[in-house]
Amino acid sequence: MDQEYRVLLYYKYVKIENPEEVTKQHLEFCTKLGLKGRIIIAAEGINGTVSGTVEQTDTYMKYMNEHPLFSNTIFKIDEASEHAFKKMRVRFRTELVTLRLEDDVDPNVQTGKHLKPKEFFEAMQEENTVLIDARNDYEYDLGHFRGSVRPDILNFRDLPQWIRENKEDFEGKKILTYCTGGIRCEKFSGWLLQEGFEDVSQLDGGIVTYGKDPEVQGELWDGQLYVFDERISVPINRKENVIVGKDYFSGEPCERYVNCANPECNKKILCSEENEHKHLRSCSHECGVHPRNRYVAQHGLSNEEVKERLLAIGEKTTV
Ligand SMILES: [Zn+2]
Repeated sequence: MDQEYRVLLYYKYVKIENPEEVTKQHLEFCTKLGLKGRIIIAAEGINGTVSGTVEQTDTYMKYMNEHPLFSNTIFKIDEASEHAFKKMRVRFRTELVTLRLEDDVDPNVQTGKHLKPKEFFEAMQEENTVLIDARNDYEYDLGHFRGSVRPDILNFRDLPQWIRENKEDFEGKKILTYCTGGIRCEKFSGWLLQEGFEDVSQLDGGIVTYGKDPEVQGELWDGQLYVFDERISVPINRKENVIVGKDYFSGEPCERYVNCANPECNKKILCSEENEHKHLRSCSHECGVHPRNRYVAQHGLSNEEVKERLLAIGEKTTV
C-alpha cells in the first residue's frame, strides 16, 4: 500500500504551568512511539507537525485526546507514503510563534473571528475587504490566495511593524487573515484588534483545512502551499492549477525551492534544475564564489570549473 503514513499538523493555545517538564515527557512519549517531526511547547501551548504510520499517528492522537492539557486539539491529517521528517524534536520555547510583541496577545482572550472555509471563500469576494497573508515572503511566492496582500517580510515577527508602516491600506476595511494551519493568525488577528482595527477575521484551520474542505476544494488559491517538512510543498486548489512561482533567474513559472549554497546566506530561491547547475545554486555572485559554497563542495568542482560556470552566465571571477 502506498499511503500508509500520515502527517499531522496541529496546535492548541492552552496555559501550561510546567512547560519544560511537559516538553521532556512529550519527547519521551513521541520517541518511544516512533514518530518523527517538530513540536514546540511553550507556557502558552503546543504547536506541532509529526509524521508516522497510520497506527502510530492514531496512538498519538488518542494520547493527546486523553491528555489533561491537550484534549480537543484539532488535527489536520495528510496521507503520505513516508515520513516527512528525519528526527523527532520536541523543544521548549518562550513563544509558539515568534512575534515578540511588547503587549502579548492571548488568543483565548482576544482573536479575530474564525471563518470556516466556505465563509472565508465568500468573505474574500466581498467589497471593501483586504486579504492579508500572515506568512513569510517565500511562502507567499510559491502560492497564495488570489488578490491577497504580500507583506514584505522575512520573519513573522516583522509583521506588526510592517502593518504599522502600511496602516492606511487597511484602515476602515474588513480584514481577512490566513496562514498555513491557523496558529499564526490566532495571534496576529488578536494583535490587529488590539491595534485598533475593528473588523478582523481569520481562516479557521488555515490553508490546509481550506484545501481539504469538500465544498470549496481550495478554490481561489493559486500555486502550492509551502510546508515546513521534507515535502516542502503540497497542493491546495483541487479545481484548477495555476502556477504563481517564478524562477529566480529566468522568471519562468517554477515551483521548485532550493536553498542558496552559500551557508551564510541559505536564502530560499525558486529555480529549475538547469538553472541550479548554471548558477551554482547561488543567489548572487558573492554567494557563488563563497569559499564554503555547498554546491561547489557537493559536486567537487575545481576553481577552473567554477570559473567556467560563472563565465558561462557572464560573470568574471578571480577565485
Ligand atoms: Zn545567497
